[in-house]
Amino acid sequence: MIYSSKSNENIQIIPRYKKKIKKLNNLKTARIYVALFLAILLIGFYYYFREHIVVRLDIPLKSNVKKENLKKYMMQELDHIGYIEPELQVTLDERIIHLDLKGAPPKISYFSRLFPLIAELGGTGILIEYEDMFPYNGTILKNVSALNAYSLKEITIINRLARENNLKVIPLIQTFGHLEFLLKLQQYKDYREVFAYPQVICPSHPHTMSLIEDMIDQIIASHPDIEMLHIGCDEVYYLGFCERCTNRMINDNVSKNLLFLEHVKAISQILNKKYPHIRILLWDDQFRSMTETDLAEVKLNENLEPVIWRYTKEVYDELGPSLWDMYSKIFRKVWIASAYKGAIGSNKYMSDVNHYLQNHRSWLSVVAEHKRRVNFRGIIMAGWQRYDHFAVLCELLPIGIPALAMSLRLLKGFKDSPLSPPTEVSKVLKCHQPYGLIGSAFGSPKCEFPGTYIFHFAV
Ligand SMILES: [Zn+2]
Repeated sequence: MIYSSKSNENIQIIPRYKKKIKKLNNLKTARIYVALFLAILLIGFYYYFREHIVVRLDIPLKSNVKKENLKKYMMQELDHIGYIEPELQVTLDERIIHLDLKGAPPKISYFSRLFPLIAELGGTGILIEYEDMFPYNGTILKNVSALNAYSLKEITIINRLARENNLKVIPLIQTFGHLEFLLKLQQYKDYREVFAYPQVICPSHPHTMSLIEDMIDQIIASHPDIEMLHIGCDEVYYLGFCERCTNRMINDNVSKNLLFLEHVKAISQILNKKYPHIRILLWDDQFRSMTETDLAEVKLNENLEPVIWRYTKEVYDELGPSLWDMYSKIFRKVWIASAYKGAIGSNKYMSDVNHYLQNHRSWLSVVAEHKRRVNFRGIIMAGWQRYDHFAVLCELLPIGIPALAMSLRLLKGFKDSPLSPPTEVSKVLKCHQPYGLIGSAFGSPKCEFPGTYIFHFAV
């Protein structure tokens, strides 16, 4: 018995237990104090982690990402960044950055800030696609240039800026398909392969070659130091449609493939004769449906170096081994082309860094697999401004810079573990936190690279 039974209202505690009960009360009070202390400690830790560790939770997340799922997303995103398995470590000597000037050409002053950045990130050159931004002149081409085209003096500045930053310059001039900027004009409507679509120039028109030769001469004259010229030739959608071409196909037994190959061969012969020191690059997609016999019969110029382009995440699976087998027998040297912007949708204004990183990872797998039999000259990192001359603008140049920087990091053989953030890229781009460079799930990286205000506006 603990309690006395004398009174129910005034319970009397037996004196020998008084001490124990007092002790228990003290213990209870102590527990409350400890609990309070721990709660304060936890709140303190929460605010400390929120401000300093891993991911700042005040950064706006994608609407479909709950904060509690952040770790899961983080691991998924990290899975795609610069961790390269040892067998994928390959070296590509040339890393050329494509600058597509269609529709939104940068000011020359922007190049003075962009070129040092490209060089610092590991680029070795620029592929500059002027389209109608080149100041064409002369009787045939005087009306082709856009009203805001660069002047010849400005092109001299571009050349100088590239030289100062040890960047090679490769001009790109379309010579078959994607000549919309020229064929849309009334003056050139007779050159169209299909009258309704000003996309492809007719390879059988009697003046086509002189027109292209004029363009090439003017471009090369304004880039006197170049070692390479890209002649386009991708997506030639309409071949063998016009009366001139169909007559040629019937009378001379010429296939559509041969129509294409003879046009390319004619351009390369002109170039080889006038500018034998210049190597000729062209997109490869028209070759893919051809056979080794088709290509071998035409005896293409040895100066031709196809650029095999693919901008998806699964390049390795999509370009099968037979393609590499054929190219290794026909071409002495080839290029590959990935993308850092303008390849995820014609109306996209924001970049998907993971897509572009995965594209590069897949390309590295391809090179690692075939490097023993294919001579890979280098990589061109395409940055499309719009899908064609009449399309809307997609990701603008500054929007693509984080993806470009992260992709170049991957190409440099980055070997850190998946848990290491891209701190070195973050430093070059002057970012407040590196995790935003991995993917938009981590919010904006808040950087200060050239054109950064456009980037933050889009985010
Ligand atoms: Zn034709």
